[in-house]
Amino acid sequence: MRTQRQVVDYSLQRRAVLRDVRDGRISALEVCDASPYLKNAATFHGEPTDERCPICRRDNVTLVHYVYGDELKQSAGQAHKAAELSVLAMTLRECQVFVVEVCRSCSWNHLIERYLLGRDALGDDEPPMQWKTGSDSHVREGRR
Ligand SMILES: [Zn+2]
Repeated sequence: MRTQRQVVDYSLQRRAVLRDVRDGRISALEVCDASPYLKNAATFHGEPTDERCPICRRDNVTLVHYVYGDELKQSAGQAHKAAELSVLAMTLRECQVFVVEVCRSCSWNHLIERYLLGRDALGDDEPPMQWKTGSDSHVREGRR
């Protein structure tokens, strides 16, 4: 999505947790602790993936997008479908999205990434694409 920014990737932490489980340093029970609320969100708002659960390998993991932001008022912290995110990105100035991976079989869950979304990204701090890629961009930038 074009307006995604300040993306924080948690795949290293995820890999470290999975390694600890594999090596027996932490038990699978400790990491398979998705709340009923989170599993519900995965069922009703989750985005299915082709990726097998790294713990039980019985089911594919589902991605849940939680959206936070002052402009959301009482709906802050709710799960949203991926399709709804593009609408939020165009209507809100700024919101924070947390992407959580959930297995509905064994309750494995882990934060995958978080990022900011919203119209603020279309503002002055980031020049439009044609400024970066146009063959005469140096001329235009010189005039700025
Ligand atoms: Zn699982």
